[in-house]
Amino acid sequence: MTAIRLPSRPRVGDVVNLPNGKRVRVANIGVPWIQPPASVCDDPECPWHGNLKIRLKFLEVTVESVRMHRSAVVIHEYVHYVPKYKRYERRRKKMHVRVPECVEVKPGDKVIIAEARPLAKTIAWVVIGKREDVTPWTAKREILQA
Ligand SMILES: [Zn+2]
Repeated sequence: MTAIRLPSRPRVGDVVNLPNGKRVRVANIGVPWIQPPASVCDDPECPWHGNLKIRLKFLEVTVESVRMHRSAVVIHEYVHYVPKYKRYERRRKKMHVRVPECVEVKPGDKVIIAEARPLAKTIAWVVIGKREDVTPWTAKREILQA
């Protein structure tokens, strides 16, 4: 398992040779508004460089802690409508997400996660990039808040 940082961000479809001899192709994950990460890994459970398929369900969340191996705890904050009082209440929930090797996260980072297949008992979402990887012209509108 290796991840290398490239001098410039690769484009979708680029083929990169890793130091361990593997050739990795940057996949088109079907999300045009986010750019591939600047690093390339050979993690099989990476949506960009592995075999993991993502589903078209996205959230923007904040990283809470990164103590687990290649996964993280994130906080999803959202508003929930309460009909009786005709007001919104703020809710937050913690989620466990998979972090591929090419993405480095630290607590406090804003990251974009996408639903994937169940990867572990509590993990079914994967980080596809950071907020700064989002293409600016569509940033806010295109992120579907579930
Ligand atoms: Zn990767």
